[in-house]
Amino acid sequence: MKLRIAAESDRGLVRRENEDSFLASLPLVVVADGVGGQNAGEVASALAVEVLTEWKPRLSARRPDRLRDAARDANRRIYTRAQHETSLQGMATTLTAAWFEEGTCTLAQIGDSRAYLFRDGELSQLTEDQSAVAQLVKTGRISREEAYTHPWRNRILQALGGAPDVVVDMYSIQLQVGDRLLIASDGLTDEVRDDSLKDVLATVEDPELAGRTLIARAKEAGGRDNITVVLVDVTGNGDDEAPSKWRHAWDVLNRPITLRRRT
Ligand code: MN
Repeated sequence: MKLRIAAESDRGLVRRENEDSFLASLPLVVVADGVGGQNAGEVASALAVEVLTEWKPRLSARRPDRLRDAARDANRRIYTRAQHETSLQGMATTLTAAWFEEGTCTLAQIGDSRAYLFRDGELSQLTEDQSAVAQLVKTGRISREEAYTHPWRNRILQALGGAPDVVVDMYSIQLQVGDRLLIASDGLTDEVRDDSLKDVLATVEDPELAGRTLIARAKEAGGRDNITVVLVDVTGNGDDEAPSKWRHAWDVLNRPITLRRRT
């Protein structure tokens, strides 16, 4: 499976800091959206990326339980650190982690960052938000459109670091050549409706340009939150390329703490 990746994170137009963190280091992709006082959210999301990066050598398409274990380990470590440092109390982060190998994408999900699949002109949301409004939509009590303005729209049911353990939602899909995966924080998906996401994914072929276009749309819509976008295009069949050969070229990291960890 040949993949092409692009990733970018933007502070948006309102927030003073960017508390999102991401890793775009194939075959691993991580998007984490931190919350917490002062800069604690940034610490939580960066720690999630750091822990997943440590787990990278042990991850495998045949062992999806390890991606789950990595997420639970990240939870424990964020939770423990929040317990021990007063300034970090209450910090937490969402996590959407994707592992691409052998034609499969395995996803681990906590919170309301999202993974979407664009295939054959159709956009489908792969992950279910662990949020109050997603529950209301699922049970038919509000529409998907009403979810965008609902007062509970930012209330997530679980986050890494919020409790000693978490229930990680796992997903797996078989990939096809031509698939385009979008992994993004809610700074994109709260501002840009699905039909507009689809429009960009369908019309902008270059993944970097498509990513920048999505961020621009989120900012045009208000840019009220940090915006992180990772796009992975499945460009061909064949053997997975050895990550060691091209890891450097594709490592896109937005945090000094993770940059230092790059080997
Ligand atoms: Mn956010």
